[in-house]
Amino acid sequence: MVKLNQIWNNILLETETKVSTLGYDLYINTLSPVGIYKDRLILMAESRALKNIVDNKYKDAIKKSMSKVFPSLVDVEIITEDDVDNITNLDTEVDIPVTEEYMDDTDPGSQFMEQYTFNNFVVGKSNEYAAAVCKAVADNPGSKYNPLFIWGGVGLGKTHLMHAIGNQIRRTKPELKMLYTSSAGFTNELIEALLDNNNVDTKKKFRKKYRSLDVLMIDDIQFLANKEGTQEEFFHTFNDLYLANKQIIICSDRPPKEINIEERLKTRFATGIIADIQPPNLETRIAILQKKCIEKKKSVDIKVLSLIAEKITTNIREMEGMLNRIISYSSLVGGDCNDMNIVNDALRDYIDSKKEIITIDRIVDETCEYFNVEKSALVGKKKHKEIVFPRQVCIYLITDLLSTPLIAIGEYFGGRDHTTIMHARDKISDDVKNNATIATQIKDIKDRIFNR
Ligand code: ADP
Ligand code: MG
Repeated sequence: MVKLNQIWNNILLETETKVSTLGYDLYINTLSPVGIYKDRLILMAESRALKNIVDNKYKDAIKKSMSKVFPSLVDVEIITEDDVDNITNLDTEVDIPVTEEYMDDTDPGSQFMEQYTFNNFVVGKSNEYAAAVCKAVADNPGSKYNPLFIWGGVGLGKTHLMHAIGNQIRRTKPELKMLYTSSAGFTNELIEALLDNNNVDTKKKFRKKYRSLDVLMIDDIQFLANKEGTQEEFFHTFNDLYLANKQIIICSDRPPKEINIEERLKTRFATGIIADIQPPNLETRIAILQKKCIEKKKSVDIKVLSLIAEKITTNIREMEGMLNRIISYSSLVGGDCNDMNIVNDALRDYIDSKKEIITIDRIVDETCEYFNVEKSALVGKKKHKEIVFPRQVCIYLITDLLSTPLIAIGEYFGGRDHTTIMHARDKISDDVKNNATIATQIKDIKDRIFNR
């Protein structure tokens, strides 16, 4: 079965490329689908004047697009509010053939992790509002809480909640089309669509895929910062879905106003519900660990769980990592995970192993990717503005995150003097204090370094 909205969306996509932008925006895009009667699509215009213009100038284009995508639909009729009473027996869902290249290519399958459900999400003061609105959205997608914007620090359960919504909707409303993606996933897909110059349909397909959804979830939207082309595309996708009452769910590590993106996107995010997740209190942290132990079928004493919950206060993922470490370490050495000596050894080992993760290379790679510059240029000699700033940021990050001697950093950056390194460090360090945009950029890159 194909739904009316899907039919109209596909026709819109197909028509968009065939008529002038003005004609599309002013006339075609203001029509709304009313239903299907036999082989005819009925569209409503907002006024008689609009109807006349569409009838005279755009109807043929719409018809052409329609027959291309849905070969069995042959005619289009434009009506206005006055005609509504005279028409009956319209279908809003029909079983009609779809030309193969327009068939849906979104995968409703296994994009959600099964273990992330509402059932095993522990609710405490710090997350009860977010959990409640997520539940409401899962019960009734596309109605009251739209768009839903959830924000909170790293490892506090944002992704868990999104998957919980996805899992529930999949179970209760399997007919809904959902897509979960990170903002990086969205960007990469868009770039691929844009790069594929040989195939004009790729971009069309990209749009079609996103705009035919019932539920769109974008995780870690903060990484859309500094990506103007992507923001533009996202803005349009967002509007289309929003206007069609489709559910949009967005997660971020900070509130909309602090994301380094276009104003109009921030404004859009703020039109719905914004829910934050704060770090949980000690009791909730222990309750979460207990839940994880049940999932793992491990019995770990409360004294060990309390120790973990006291050591790690702001990141559940890290807390879980520490628990896993204790369990695997104890089985590795053939000991008991409730023996405090073993626990202490495991923790020492855990803390050492975390230190190794960040290297100069890693910082350089993430900086290059963030600013979209080549590594060879970043560590090279060139002094133009586009490269100097990323280079200084990178140097600052290295001095901030590692204890590498300045001379060694200088060597890494093409044999620069240590005073140059010092200068870069101090400059950015000042910027971070005085310039909110730069402070945000630094935070973004650090997040990437720590969370990949
Ligand atoms: P975020 O997306 O906010 O960075 P995640 O959703 O990936 O964080 O959560 C990190 C880990 O912590 C996951 O394994 C998740 O199951 C767990 N977690 C976070 N909050 C809770 C909670 N309230 N109850 C149970 N597990 C939680
Ligand atoms: Mg996440």
